[in-house]
Order: sequence, then C-alpha cells, then structure tokens
Amino acid sequence: MRNRREFIKMSALAGAAFVSPAACKSEKSNYPASNLVAQNNTKPIVVSTWKAGLSANKAAWEILAKNGHALDAVEAGVRVTESDPQNQSVGLGGLPDREGKVTLDACIMNHKNDCGAVAFLQDIENPISVARKVMEKTPHVMLVGEGARQFALENGFPKKELLTDAAKKKWQEWLQESRYQPVINRENHDTIGMLAIDQSGRLSGACTTSGMAYKLHGRVGDSPIIGAGLFVDNEIGAACATGVGEAVIRIAGSAIVVELMRNGLSPTEACKEAVGRIMRKHDNLKNLQVGFLALNKSGEYGGYSIYKGFDFALKTNQEEKMISAAYNLEWQ
Ligand code: ASP
Repeated sequence: MRNRREFIKMSALAGAAFVSPAACKSEKSNYPASNLVAQNNTKPIVVSTWKAGLSANKAAWEILAKNGHALDAVEAGVRVTESDPQNQSVGLGGLPDREGKVTLDACIMNHKNDCGAVAFLQDIENPISVARKVMEKTPHVMLVGEGARQFALENGFPKKELLTDAAKKKWQEWLQESRYQPVINRENHDTIGMLAIDQSGRLSGACTTSGMAYKLHGRVGDSPIIGAGLFVDNEIGAACATGVGEAVIRIAGSAIVVELMRNGLSPTEACKEAVGRIMRKHDNLKNLQVGFLALNKSGEYGGYSIYKGFDFALKTNQEEKMISAAYNLEWQ
C-alpha cells in the first residue's frame, strides 16, 4: 500500500493526465482496478453504493429487465432504501441532526441532463420522488426546506414521521455528550447513489441521504447537489459520491469524475484521480472517507475510495454481486 506522501507525490506528477491502469491497482483491493466491464458489455447495467444497493438494484432491475427507462429504474431502486427503517443514513429511520430532526437530501438526473433536487426536506419518506417532481413539474432544479416540504405535500406526498425509535435512542445517547463532531467513518455512512444504463443506452442516476448524523440543523451535504453528489452526461457516463459531503463539494466531485472519463480515463481511474484531488486538498485525512462510483457509456464501471471499506452493488444480466472498491489508505 502506497503511503499518503508517496500517493500525493505520484498524483501531483500524474496531474489530470492519463493514469495507467497499473498505477490504479490497489494492493488490497480484490480486483485489478483498470476497467471492469460487464460481461459482453450487455446493457442494462445498474450499480449502487454500499450493501443496501443489492436490494435497491433488484427493484431497479425489475424495470430495466422489461426494457424500462433508466430514470424510472434509479428512482424505484433508491426508494427501497429510503423506505427501509433499518437503514440509518437514508430516508425513513435516518439518524437526525443535533436537534433531533431528520432532514433529507436527494437528487436525480436523466440522459438529457434534466435534473431535480431537494435538500433539507422534512416529513417526507421518499425525497427522490419529490426531486423527480421538481425536475418534471417546475422550471427549477432544486427546492429546499419548508418550500420543498410544501411542494411535496401539494403534490400528494404523505406527511410521515421519519424519526424511528431506534434512531431517536441513538440520538438521545449522543445528546448525553453532545459533542459536535459529525464524523463519517467506517460505520456511519450509507448514502445510496445509483447509476443505470438501460437497454436503449440511456444513462440516469439518483442519490439520496439523511446526511451526516448529528449535523448542524440546516446543513446540506453533497448528495442533492448536481455535479457534487451526482452527475450524468449521456455522451460519456455517470458518477456519484458517498462520504464526507463537504470534501466532495470542494472538488465538484461527480462532475469531475465524468470529465475525467471524457478525457479518456476508465471509471476506476477517474474515481481514483478525484479521490487523489480530495486527498491533496486536505491536510487532515483522519476520518475523511469519500468514495466515488462511476459507470460509462460502454458499460465499464468502477469505484475508488480514500479508505478501505467502500463497496458497491452490481446487477447485470449475468451478475448480481458486491464489489470492493480500490482505495488508498487503511483505517488506523
Ligand atoms: N455524502 C453524505 C453527506 O455528506 C453522507 C454519506 O455519504 O453518508 O451528507
């Protein structure tokens, strides 16, 4: 494993130029990190972040397998995670902010660069569907807070208490010390980002989260921000992010990954270069986990994270599995 100094030196030398597949191989990762190509390049393909991605992909697949639209697939896919009370980083059951409020962020983007987003949304179980409504029914891209909530209610989304007993208990335990240290580490991040290409070659993506546990009331991360948490360009590919949102926003993470693919990098190489940029711009990498996931037009996919432990779910005609992303650092 390359240490950080060596990594920074190497990345600085490489700059945005082509990074050879060999340079991308992480010793600890369980696959050669050049390209991962779905067998025979068969479409459709869906990839999504973390283990929850497996069941989300299943729901997406029901649409993709019937020659459905990638946009419908990613929406249906991440709704499963949003509605799962066991998942404490997304939708219903998400861990609240420091005031005990569950506030949700989500965005969605299609093959025509149409996009919609909601941020700091409360009381609505499926923010991804509200984001889609913003995209389709308004001239805007993003609605936030009370305005987003009103819009959702006016469009028939039911009001729902999102703070589950389990999440409330954890928050109350946190309150005893009340240390304002919203930290993303190996346990507490599970934002779902999903990217899909359908049989007709249309790419779409979705990203949805309850954000960092115990964040300041009003904090919004990268996940609902087009270009940060998610970006789709049907000429090239799509990318999404998970981890410390502030770090992702600073480099316009997902847009950068897509641009790096436009410049010839494979999805894994592009994710690696974006991770390298974040590492070069932060002196303190303690607990700074970020992972990127990318899928290109030809069906190549890949992921890369700062720390070990980021994995993603894949579903194609032939395969359904979790893949460990390559990474740069081991947790201390
Ligand atoms: N990216 C999300 C945020 O910063 C957190 C996560 O991925 O879990 O809100």
